[in-house]
Amino acid sequence: MGVDLSERVVLSNGFREGARYPAMFVNVTNRCTLSCAHCFVYRDDNPNEPAPARREIPDDELLEIIEGLRDRHGVQVMLWMGGEPLLRRRLVERGVRLFPHNTVVTNGTVPLVDLGADVLYVVSLDGPPGPNDAVRGAGTFDRVMRTLARLPTGFSSPVQVQCTVTRANQDHLGELVELLRDTPVGWVTFSFYVPPAADASGLGWATLEDRMVAVETVRELKQHHPGFVRNRGRALDLMAPGRAPVVTAACPAKATVLPLYLDGERLVTPFCCYGNDVDCSRCGAWVVFELAAGRDAGAPLG
Ligand code: SF4
Ligand code: SF4
Repeated sequence: MGVDLSERVVLSNGFREGARYPAMFVNVTNRCTLSCAHCFVYRDDNPNEPAPARREIPDDELLEIIEGLRDRHGVQVMLWMGGEPLLRRRLVERGVRLFPHNTVVTNGTVPLVDLGADVLYVVSLDGPPGPNDAVRGAGTFDRVMRTLARLPTGFSSPVQVQCTVTRANQDHLGELVELLRDTPVGWVTFSFYVPPAADASGLGWATLEDRMVAVETVRELKQHHPGFVRNRGRALDLMAPGRAPVVTAACPAKATVLPLYLDGERLVTPFCCYGNDVDCSRCGAWVVFELAAGRDAGAPLG
């Protein structure tokens, strides 16, 4: 291998070169087609320097780094993230061949390409048009629906929608589910907003008790749309105020997922997937509670 991992990848915040991580996510670009109000990638405290002189790490080089990390850490599950990862479509098309399990997390404004039945697309939508566009930008909901409508017959990659639940959209989750039922979307999951330490966005809940209104809404939707709303019941149970702090204090995502942000020409690890400035005590990330529920059921990731 020509690339020196020690020069191109800097692990800190408790992530270690000698450790095994079943899953890894890499921001393959810091470019994005949107500018979402609740975006954690572009928060000031995070590593997200644009490439010097607009030069991103070339595909061959970045894929070599990713392959080296796969081998060094025993990675089985790869999440292709950004920015908008499909702005580097050719890299993603080649990269998914390197891992047995792949997820491409996209904002749905760029055409999806068929990556095969084994590659999952996770498309972000945060409610029906009004609430979604309030955080993701005017016209975004319709743009995503057009992307979905244009998928050709026989498109084989499964498509999941993930919705970030906030205090602002919690009363509109059912409308989103209804709008997605007659689309190529296979299922929906709900992730609950992860606030920064001093959150002035107005999107978060004052207390974990207050958040339970939204958690119970998701539980009801799951009952009305079995198989389509796929948050595990056990994961929702773990979000109760008496249980969630136990889960987040020993975050299973931090132990399982190696998060790599693109900082200029290097990949670096922030505190966790959600960056450096996070309030773990109020974290409602889908991945955290799903992993905890899976661990309880004896089925950890990877
Ligand atoms: S689409 Fe994703 S990466 Fe882009 S601004 Fe929105 S949340 Fe951030
Ligand atoms: S913010 Fe959430 S995902 Fe990040 S370390 Fe804390 S509990 Fe884990």
